Amino acid sequence: MKALRYPAWDVLEIANVDEPVPAPGEAVLQVAAVGICGSEVEAVAHRSPRRTPPLVMGHEFCGEVVAVAPDVTDVKPGDRVVSSSLIPCGRCAACRSGAIHLCPERAIFGMNRPGAFAERVAAPARVLLPLPERVSPLQGALVEPLANGVHVWSRVAAKFPETVVVIGCGAIGLLALQVARAGGALRLVAVDTSDARLEMAHAVGAEPLFNPARDAVVNEIRAFTRGRGADVVIDAVGAPATRRTAVEAVRPGGEVVWIGTHGDVTELSGRDVVLGERRISGSYAVTYDDLTTAVALFAHGKIDIEPWVRPFPLEEGARVFRQLLTAPPADYAKAILLP
Ligand SMILES: [Zn+2]
Ligand SMILES: [Zn+2]
Repeated sequence: MKALRYPAWDVLEIANVDEPVPAPGEAVLQVAAVGICGSEVEAVAHRSPRRTPPLVMGHEFCGEVVAVAPDVTDVKPGDRVVSSSLIPCGRCAACRSGAIHLCPERAIFGMNRPGAFAERVAAPARVLLPLPERVSPLQGALVEPLANGVHVWSRVAAKFPETVVVIGCGAIGLLALQVARAGGALRLVAVDTSDARLEMAHAVGAEPLFNPARDAVVNEIRAFTRGRGADVVIDAVGAPATRRTAVEAVRPGGEVVWIGTHGDVTELSGRDVVLGERRISGSYAVTYDDLTTAVALFAHGKIDIEPWVRPFPLEEGARVFRQLLTAPPADYAKAILLP
């Protein structure tokens, strides 16, 4: 079958690879759509040891079951399904409490086992969720990133925060914005260094828009909130500068969520955090509940993907990857491959 292979550092190519065979407990899916994740572009750009070639990447996917191992009873050929991107062990304390994303034994598609940049992929049946007919394949490929936005929002305690700021308008930021709106946020503010990305945020409901290349973002957010600061700030970039902006822009008693890991050590004002009782949470990956919520948000028409998502045939995968490695495109924020 055809696959987008990552055979060696700096190389991506369309190649013929062996058909997947379902191991006990597994199903094989005909991949309908698979998203290219920022983490995969980063991995190629920085030769990440977490994704060492040779490899077929791809962990954000949906499709139709075409074969199952003899012991599989919960899915059958013909079922439309979406997959979790990670495979928890199912036995440890984290797994038993539902925190599958914190399982120390977790495996990830396209990292520890073959991913879905291919016509077909094998997956344990226990990590598949049913995908309703009214959720399109493009939406199906976005269930996992949307679930990341749902997970971010699950870290926020406020019920109807007046002002929610999202820093970073890539796919996760654009989805987090819309989850916040569906979850009760009254006003959405977007921050990005790219005006093209800010326009995409505007198209999905954010207003006002601030660009740190031009605007003193923290001052602008304070002015917009009559000197108070935002109720919630989500940093979807994960760089030291954006983490700091998030803490400086949130009001006393407000909440900050960090997702993304572009840099590690971050210098912050401890006094701002302590005297302002500002709360900072990390958000990593998703639970099955987050995936289920993401499917429901799509099924009920709560998420707009048209202004910022672009599909490509699998055959163009290497070219699209090269483009994403060179510079972020101005006309879309998320590429989805259709095998
Ligand atoms: Zn991803
Ligand atoms: Zn586990």
